[in-house]
Amino acid sequence: MTAQGDGATVDSACARFRDLPSVHRVLEWPGVVALVEQYGRTLVRHEARALLEQGRCSAQAEIVGEFSEEGIAHALRERIAERLAPRTKEVFNLTGTVLHTNLGRAPLADAAVQSLERTMRSAVNLEFDLKTGQRGDRDWLIEDLLCELTGAEAATVVNNNAAAVLLTISALAGRREVIVSRGELIEIGGAFRMPDVMKCAGAKMVEVGTTNRTHVQDYSDAIGPKSALILRAHASNFVMTGFTASVEEAKLAEIAHRAQIPFVVDLGSGSLVDLVQYGLAHEPMPQEMLAQGADVVTFSGDKLLGGPQAGLIVGKKQWIQKIKRQPLRRALRVSKLTMAALEATLFLYRQPEQLAERLPALRMLARPQGQIAALARRLAPMLASVLGPAFLVSHAPVQSEIGSGSLPGQVLPSAALVVRPCGGGRGSGAKLQRLARAMWALPVPVIGRIADGALLLDLRTLFDEAAFAAQLPALRAAGGF
Ligand SMILES: *Cc1c(COP(=O)(O)O)cnc(C)c1O
Repeated sequence: MTAQGDGATVDSACARFRDLPSVHRVLEWPGVVALVEQYGRTLVRHEARALLEQGRCSAQAEIVGEFSEEGIAHALRERIAERLAPRTKEVFNLTGTVLHTNLGRAPLADAAVQSLERTMRSAVNLEFDLKTGQRGDRDWLIEDLLCELTGAEAATVVNNNAAAVLLTISALAGRREVIVSRGELIEIGGAFRMPDVMKCAGAKMVEVGTTNRTHVQDYSDAIGPKSALILRAHASNFVMTGFTASVEEAKLAEIAHRAQIPFVVDLGSGSLVDLVQYGLAHEPMPQEMLAQGADVVTFSGDKLLGGPQAGLIVGKKQWIQKIKRQPLRRALRVSKLTMAALEATLFLYRQPEQLAERLPALRMLARPQGQIAALARRLAPMLASVLGPAFLVSHAPVQSEIGSGSLPGQVLPSAALVVRPCGGGRGSGAKLQRLARAMWALPVPVIGRIADGALLLDLRTLFDEAAFAAQLPALRAAGGF
């Protein structure tokens, strides 16, 4: 039945548009000649062909409008504009997850953006010593900074922390054994699972202890002639409570060193400053791990550090050198863009007093609830007036999350705009979905979250209040929700 119905629509559309003009003729129309001048013949011809094809044999034939010269030229112009519109868009992340992996994690500091701008357009001294003329390694840009900030002897950087873990295991373990607690065989999401990473690196995983409890004896018993390293993976995205036990880092370092193998920590987030001073829970710091005897620590550049996507590897010279010599490193290296942004971000840490002001990630995390609530009070009536009587707009205290597996279980008191469909009941879920979609379609898409029958816009991460308010009327124009 359905198939038959569809067939009939297509047939009639095809009949209506059978005598559409040829691509050749369309390209000669004055309106289209102007497009050719603007965009070039190749693109315009390609899009004209596609448009006419669509018009000829599709049920959506109204795409060519009145099917007049103006109608087709207009549709062609729109189509080209749409085809050339950037796919990456700035969005308002109002999900309540501050470092949202799907939304690109940490926004960069102004200093990092300026550094990117300076280096993007031109050749740079990436691997060229301007004093001696020697060619070297791009790590020189960040190595001393990372050593200064963490107390490490040496450091390197790769594409992300997953790459940092892979490279470290591959360089330090080879085909030998990596000892890891069963309580730390984590999955980070996006297919990063510790057992798979080990396999991929070529190492043999030796699991010790149990899911909830691992003891010193478990590690000592596992040590043998084939042991290559002891790994600690920070359980960044879950919390384990109750009858649990794990071995502290200093002890693990001692066991490893007695066996003359390195102790490696995958820290995940790894904050370079103590977050307690900003009212957050303490997140383990790379410098603490090193002080407790870790030989190598890996962590992300775009989680709590607040910089570009990168994987930082810091530690003892002996091991970092081995990591740098591993051929895989060349495949995982970062571009001059990452280097430029990372260098500028790390510089900010030299002035910790101004860090919360200058580093957007920290600024969002440390933002006082009172300030967010005041913002919610100002914006709620504006949104209410745009949405009209179909929705009830209020504001309420909510809890933001840090995201990206940082400080799991910790929530931050925040405030949100709360939108509920009036009347509730049947169809209100669909109504909320339509509203959410309309918000995604705004010039700067607004991404909230739906919970308990309401659309929540957590304002912790909203700083450009004026830009947010300015585009609200477009929501009314969109209508249809
Ligand atoms: C986030 C995380 C990773 C992966 O880091 P990316 O920078 O996302 O590649 C690895 N290990 C831990 C413990 C993490 O938290």
